[in-house]
Amino acid sequence: MADGLPDQQAVGELRALIEAARRIVFFTGAGISTESGIPDFRSPGGLWTKYQPIDFRDFMRSEDMRRESWRRKFAMEGTFAAAEPNRGHRAVEKLIRDGKGRAVITQNVDGLHQASGVPDDKVIELHGNSTYAKCLDCGTRKELDAIREDFETRDLLPTCIYCGGIVKTATISFGQSMPVDEMRRAEEATLQADLFIVLGSSLVVYPAAGFPRIAKENGADLVILNRDPTDQDAFADLVLNMEIGPVLGDAVGVN
Ligand code: ZN
Repeated sequence: MADGLPDQQAVGELRALIEAARRIVFFTGAGISTESGIPDFRSPGGLWTKYQPIDFRDFMRSEDMRRESWRRKFAMEGTFAAAEPNRGHRAVEKLIRDGKGRAVITQNVDGLHQASGVPDDKVIELHGNSTYAKCLDCGTRKELDAIREDFETRDLLPTCIYCGGIVKTATISFGQSMPVDEMRRAEEATLQADLFIVLGSSLVVYPAAGFPRIAKENGADLVILNRDPTDQDAFADLVLNMEIGPVLGDAVGVN
């Protein structure tokens, strides 16, 4: 790896597993998006080591917290808006397009799988999506540009024009319950898989991190491709502590 090229034996083993599989399910975390320039909030030196994340109950309870939450959101917006899918996203998209990849379960909220061309119904977002907002009462979608203009020019916090409810980015915050439909869809997809590939997740945030074990215990092969070792490496058939884009891109033949 000293020359920056992926280890050819590792690529070969991953390619063989992908070729033998018929139903691949991906599980993606921050690591696939850091390769697109999106910071990993949880990593050492990451944003959440400087700013305590805003808990859902505090967001609901306090207008000041809602203001702070939107201020942080828009401070980060340039970074998110500039991010584009990378080779790892493109390799996932190719396998989904070919029909061998069945679903992408993701902890990411950046929408980059959809931006790479994966259809909405194949992306299961366990932690929601930060590229738009929703009314917490009636679920009506609201776009960020309109919210930002009201916030920055008139100091207005968004409320729902239909029901008056509080509007929040469509993400799942700390203290907010996991989305029931997405958890059910993720479990169904996991149980279909004959190959389950973890990409860039340290597998520490439960219940999401339980899916690789469910897949493995259901008979799927398990691959973990993550920069650092994880607690679940011992259960995996193949562990690759490497960058995602070069390794998966080479294994799938995508640039
Ligand atoms: Zn509403």
